[in-house]
Amino acid sequence: MIVFDMECSKGHVFEGWFDSSEAFEEQNASGLVSCPYCEDLSIRKVISPVAVKKSGNDIQPTPNAVDYQRLAKEVVDYIKKNSEDVGTQFTAEALKIHYGVTEKRSIRGSATQDEEKTLHEEGVEFFKVPMPSTEEDKKN
Ligand SMILES: [Zn+2]
Repeated sequence: MIVFDMECSKGHVFEGWFDSSEAFEEQNASGLVSCPYCEDLSIRKVISPVAVKKSGNDIQPTPNAVDYQRLAKEVVDYIKKNSEDVGTQFTAEALKIHYGVTEKRSIRGSATQDEEKTLHEEGVEFFKVPMPSTEEDKKN
């Protein structure tokens, strides 16, 4: 299905669903398309197709549309579930892991700008995620 914006000779604008552009032309030529406001039969298409609709289904959001807020929450949840919270000891722990002093594991915590610089200089791989503070965090 294709939706067209249409306009009658009196300037009323309305939408109409058609199987195709040809279907509209055919129905319009046969006088089957009329203005819902004034029943005028002199209708023209205002814009070419603005949406394509699969029959029986509502218009789906494009597969590329990502809910970034949800994605961010999932990432945060994943990190919380799969890493050890070392808090402000993050830099120290990250360096220990980097140099094999302690076992390799996923950790999370906070680092100051200076500490981040140190980590960069030491070649420690880490990434920053904005962590919304939770009730649990406030207790610590
Ligand atoms: Zn009209």
